[in-house]
Amino acid sequence: MMLPMSDRTLLTGARVITPDARPAPADVLPADVLIEDGRIAAVGPGLAAGGAETIDLSGNVIAPGFIDVHVHGGGGHPLMTSDPGEIAAYAEWAVTQGVTSFLATVCAPTLDAALGCLAACANAPEASGGATLLGVNLEGPFVSPERRGALPASWPAAPDVDTFRRLLDASGCKLRLMTVAPELAGSAEVVREALSAGVRISVGHTDATYEVARDAFAAGASHVTHAFNAMRPFHHREPGPLGAALEADGVAVEVIADGVHLHPATVRMLVGAFGPDSIALITDGATPAGLSEGAFRIGDVEARLRDGEMRLPDGTIAGSVATMTDVVRNVVRWGIADLAAAATMASATPARALGLGEHKGRIAPGYDADLVALTDDLSVAATWVAGSLAYRA
Ligand SMILES: [Zn+2]
Repeated sequence: MMLPMSDRTLLTGARVITPDARPAPADVLPADVLIEDGRIAAVGPGLAAGGAETIDLSGNVIAPGFIDVHVHGGGGHPLMTSDPGEIAAYAEWAVTQGVTSFLATVCAPTLDAALGCLAACANAPEASGGATLLGVNLEGPFVSPERRGALPASWPAAPDVDTFRRLLDASGCKLRLMTVAPELAGSAEVVREALSAGVRISVGHTDATYEVARDAFAAGASHVTHAFNAMRPFHHREPGPLGAALEADGVAVEVIADGVHLHPATVRMLVGAFGPDSIALITDGATPAGLSEGAFRIGDVEARLRDGEMRLPDGTIAGSVATMTDVVRNVVRWGIADLAAAATMASATPARALGLGEHKGRIAPGYDADLVALTDDLSVAATWVAGSLAYRA
């Protein structure tokens, strides 16, 4: 859906989350936002319209558009697909949840299936009115079979540089992030190769000890895949990957704040320990995310979605059905973060984690005009991608 755009748009009447907002106590201030040619031209009170199309957003808060760096699908649209059209359909749905950019996150039952998914990402059409595909997040295959969580049993594989190169090529070099278990023999070579190709490394689906994870961060890993889920847990005598991440500089830690994968008290502890500048809220969303109840096929099995939980017939959690709006609303409602801190975790931190912190994740002059207007109850009133109105409730 592409609504008419003008080169210059002035958003007025709203309160705006600005980069200066945190940690100042007055965190969300009344301001106008002037958009020009897809970028934010000015932010401040009483900006002159000067012929720009003016949109009144009284009663709303404008936040930087959400960036979901770990998502497998949503709105009924899979991102793990051989059909590039599904990726575009997801992107058009995602703006209804305030998402302005994302990494299509891929795991698969076989290497061939993964190569097909990566080719679809490489061939996905340019966004027209949808969220921007920033690239691919590959969740494996060089991960621990013991810590595979909900990954297909046949997906984990021994680290191998040639296999990595095939995956990178299939993605059309859109691979941006890859989860690796650093305790596996051969992982160091793959990590070196990936880093030199500009692919960021996330420690996850791992049984790594504190020492092994510490060495991985020292070697350049900069990200943690869904904290606590599918990794050696934190133990007071063996603090594991999370203990190592706490001591490493600049590591971004993914958190699934859906109320299912982590207890709210655990989310509070993570945000307290790492701080919003190091926490990336993610959905890890599956295809039915954002839909109501029903039965859905996941690979060969039928999963049932009920009360916000998607489970296999045996009761296993079958992935997240949360949206970015849900996880932002959760951390605010649980009293873990104010809206400015929640926006940092949903936008600025994920942008920085991908090396895009100079362009995305903040409402400041020169930044991409990726914006979401939120109502008082934190539902999405409108979404802009690169200055174009992509959704209005
Ligand atoms: Zn995932």
